[in-house]
Amino acid sequence: MRCVICDGSGCKECNETGNFDVMKCPLLFYSREIDEILAAADLYLDHGLPVVGTCQMDQAYNFTEVCRFVRRDIAYWKNKLGIFG
Ligand SMILES: [Zn+2]
Repeated sequence: MRCVICDGSGCKECNETGNFDVMKCPLLFYSREIDEILAAADLYLDHGLPVVGTCQMDQAYNFTEVCRFVRRDIAYWKNKLGIFG
C-alpha cells in the first residue's frame, strides 16, 4: 500500500520504500472518531465549514493535516479510477 505519510516518495515511516505492507484488515482500525473526523474534513473541504466557529488560522494543526491527507487521497483515487470533476 502506498505510504500515506510521504505519498510514495519514501520516508522514515516506510523505511524509504514508499510503501508499507497491510497485515490486518484496515477496518479493524476504523472507529467512530475516524468517521467523525472524516465527516468534519468533508464539510471543511467541500463547504469551508470549520469544526469550530472561527477562521481557518484557529484550526488545530492536526485537523488541517487530516484535511490535507483527505484531499490528497481523494485526488489520488479519482485519478486512479478516472473520475474527473
Ligand atoms: Zn513513507
